[in-house]
Amino acid sequence: MLRKGTALLLLVACTVHAQAVNQTNNQTNNPETLAERSQATARAVLDRAVAAIGGAEGLRSIEVVRLQLEGETWPRLQMPTVAPPFEAGTQRETLLLDLKNNRLKLEQRGVGAGFDGHNTVVIKSGQGANYDNRAHTITPIPVAQSSQQQFIQYQRRLPHLLLRQALDRETSLRSLGQDTYEGKPHDVFTFVMADTQQVAVYVDAASGLVSKYELVFIDPFTGAEASEIMFGNYTRAGNFQVPQTWGTRQAGDLTLRAQLQVEINPAVTDQSFEVAADGYQRVAALPDTLDEKIEQLADGVFVIQNVAGQNQNTLAVAFKDYIVAVEAPGSSAGAEEVIKRIKTAIPGKPIRYVAMTHHHGDHIGGLRAFIAEGATVVTTEGNREVVERMAAAPQLDRLAKNPRKPEFLFLQRGKRVLTDGTRTLELLDIGPNPHAREMVVAYLPKERVVFQGDLFFLPANDAPVGPPQATTVSFAQKLKDLKLGVDRIASVHGRTTTIEEFNSAMRSAVPST
Ligand SMILES: [Zn+2]
Repeated sequence: MLRKGTALLLLVACTVHAQAVNQTNNQTNNPETLAERSQATARAVLDRAVAAIGGAEGLRSIEVVRLQLEGETWPRLQMPTVAPPFEAGTQRETLLLDLKNNRLKLEQRGVGAGFDGHNTVVIKSGQGANYDNRAHTITPIPVAQSSQQQFIQYQRRLPHLLLRQALDRETSLRSLGQDTYEGKPHDVFTFVMADTQQVAVYVDAASGLVSKYELVFIDPFTGAEASEIMFGNYTRAGNFQVPQTWGTRQAGDLTLRAQLQVEINPAVTDQSFEVAADGYQRVAALPDTLDEKIEQLADGVFVIQNVAGQNQNTLAVAFKDYIVAVEAPGSSAGAEEVIKRIKTAIPGKPIRYVAMTHHHGDHIGGLRAFIAEGATVVTTEGNREVVERMAAAPQLDRLAKNPRKPEFLFLQRGKRVLTDGTRTLELLDIGPNPHAREMVVAYLPKERVVFQGDLFFLPANDAPVGPPQATTVSFAQKLKDLKLGVDRIASVHGRTTTIEEFNSAMRSAVPST
């Protein structure tokens, strides 16, 4: 937890003022309760911010905005290496938002950690579609995600829209007092947006401009944390002040730094919300929920799939006296459910080992439950620190009630073989992979199965995946180099595939745009 400044409540002056008003006017600024005083203070800060950015009338006149963002990303717990220096990804985004007609077009191009994504989302007339510009597919977006409610999140992209929401949600305004941000005093208020997201808005005490807002989330390592969204380098555009930089931080780590171009009320036509998609293939929508199931790959070999609807799987392998689990995705609560399923599939044996494919947050989020269960963590030496941090995190779960330090079994020279004479499971470091430098797959030579995380995905609607990603190309090369005999590829995310399906996806040659 970093940069938690002291918050001082600046209520005194306002209280005195509010009491004076109350003696003559019972309708406004009634000072009887703390909530009322806090709301009045917040309202004054909001009014100053609204005036500084272009005025209430100006904000009400905003019907269309176009935002162009270009910058570098460092997604938290998703970098190719465990520790800095981190290799930045890049992100480019154009958002065209028509608030009057509830339509939007969002084109995003992101490159990082061995993946290249290029998608355009269009929502209009209550219907949405996602255009995958690499795979040349069009996937419908469910109606629920195309509703007016879904537009609220985009009001957090620009301080003008955020302040307008605050004006509309006046009764939820509360003052959080003052804080220092980038060495300057700020007045901070909070309010609840129409999608129930609570935001804390930092208003520069001198300029009245919004420097950032914060959302609180639960970080798997450090507990309750702030996500900070920062606007900077304001310039005048027409009647408005507009920011030219946009940045984000999570749990104190910089995760995005970008240049921003803002156009307010640009001219648009219906054509502006079209996508050039000649030759694109329409595919089925992604299912709303994923079926939870236990897939049996061989005698004593199971893939525990989609527990609690999460697109995350764990491999469970029965040995004579114990069980080996590969992957502890999700959270402690999710992993407890996975452990229950493993014990149903393989009754009467302890889970002695839990192996992980790589260090990313979604792949180690459930480790604590397995450590509490008594399992030794099988991983590469480079992941020791991240696992120890995870085991010491301030969480409310079984491990918190009975804390213990993780025990390790490390791969040596890129390999660890677990065997009881009959069953053999090989854990192989096939890194450096563009996705993670240390990347482990689980290989069952007799069953000719490999289990991998983030190296190859099949979407739940079985749509074409487009040209192979760098991370998949590296994986395919390693399979060849190691001469692994493989019939089936089971995955942390998505269903089990055959080697034929994999090879055919590798040959896919749709040109990237
Ligand atoms: Zn990953």
